[in-house]
Amino acid sequence: MATNDSREKNSPNRSITASKQKDFSEWYVQVLLKSDFIDYTAVSGCIAFRPSAYFVWEKVRDYVDAKFKEDGIENVYFPTLIPEHLLQKEKEHVEGFTPEVAWVTQTGDTKLEERLAVRPTSEAIMYENLSKWIRSWRDLPMRLNQWNNVLRWEFKHPTPFLRTREFLWNEGHSAFASKEEAEAELPRIMGIYEDALKDTFAIFGIQGRKTQKEKFAGAAASFSFEHLMPDGKAIQGPDFHHDEQRFSKAFEISFTGRDERADYIYQNTYAISSREIGVMVATHSDDKGLVLPPNVAKVQIVIVPIYNDKTREEVVKHAADLEKRLASSARILLDSRDEYSPGWKFNEWELKGVPLRIEIGAREIAERSVTVCTRYNSTKEKVQEESLINGIRERLESIQKEMYNNSKRSILSKVRKVLTYEELKLAVEEGFFAQAPWCGDEGCEDRIKDETGAKATNMPLDSQQDAERKSCVLCSRPAHHIVNFARSH
Ligand SMILES: [Zn+2]
Repeated sequence: MATNDSREKNSPNRSITASKQKDFSEWYVQVLLKSDFIDYTAVSGCIAFRPSAYFVWEKVRDYVDAKFKEDGIENVYFPTLIPEHLLQKEKEHVEGFTPEVAWVTQTGDTKLEERLAVRPTSEAIMYENLSKWIRSWRDLPMRLNQWNNVLRWEFKHPTPFLRTREFLWNEGHSAFASKEEAEAELPRIMGIYEDALKDTFAIFGIQGRKTQKEKFAGAAASFSFEHLMPDGKAIQGPDFHHDEQRFSKAFEISFTGRDERADYIYQNTYAISSREIGVMVATHSDDKGLVLPPNVAKVQIVIVPIYNDKTREEVVKHAADLEKRLASSARILLDSRDEYSPGWKFNEWELKGVPLRIEIGAREIAERSVTVCTRYNSTKEKVQEESLINGIRERLESIQKEMYNNSKRSILSKVRKVLTYEELKLAVEEGFFAQAPWCGDEGCEDRIKDETGAKATNMPLDSQQDAERKSCVLCSRPAHHIVNFARSH
């Protein structure tokens, strides 16, 4: 492993050779592998998160977990294995997952009496217990969450983060006494996810409701964030589902109300997954490599001292002093390795996506200044050392904000309002969200998908009033919804 690694380090092939614009898929995989962010594993469709990738997930998990707890959500943990009879309880749910479920059928040499599913999601295993834990209105609301991994054995071409068979996520499962209380949870959770996308990944998503055809298997209504990838294909972000009483009836989770009458609980589920890491990488990175937002970068600042034999001692000492002074405000690394040239180091840390690079040499020391290079926009400026130290937090925050604003601008510029089917086809062909009025008939949705390859990503929450007095983009009957159609990953 070590031998291979050092050989790779000295090889010029380590730079990205594919173009983001011209060959997105090849570029994406090269960025992930060459920056030491992930690796493939012996299991097809399953990746290893290397330290800088897992650091991103830890930051996201910590951020979301703290917000959940502030909101009164409690963490639990349930087993990875789900007995088959439990998975069968909710019909639509099991039908949605059956093709992707992996089964444990024996232990040692003994065949199991009942097959155990490796969880594709945990409704079935959790709700069996909820039926025992919830008795009366006093037990409600019960808002539980678990951080775990799930396995969905997809057969489509796997892509790191975007479509991996095993991924990491949060599974929120809430129980309420009434439909109104369950509905009130939607904006709270979507608000937490919206903040998380902004403050961790620095990516924007369009919030909307899923069509009945595209909703989660077993849910009554699903809501999502939708992103647009650089190749013009949409990809779904975090989601939220109103399950109403579908699962509570299947799993017999009932309670006695204040009025002494028995009723089934109302449920919601919601998730954010490690797929977002892929969306983040695809959104921000460039032909030089990875670009990480400061809030999730394991190394936020790298200092590269520039010296010759005469100045080495002074420059490295000064750089170490600067490192010490910045260390309380940022995750910082001083790269004083003698065996690599400054140019080699610049490439290395650009490839790995470090948000800020500080160059310091004898001339800068004499001027009490440093050269600061910002990774996401490739700018280079000379800054007084004191002002850099005093303003380092603000500098990192403003990079985070600007990267988010770029993502937001870029996605919104790719939404095109269309009124005719010809316009819809063209917009989809050109890699846009085609925002179209729709009658609500699944027949129209199916035909659009068959003929253009575009699916209904979601119905943006802030655009639904536009459907008034408009006609369905396909059949010309009165429109009831506004839908963003796009090809998708
Ligand atoms: Zn129609």
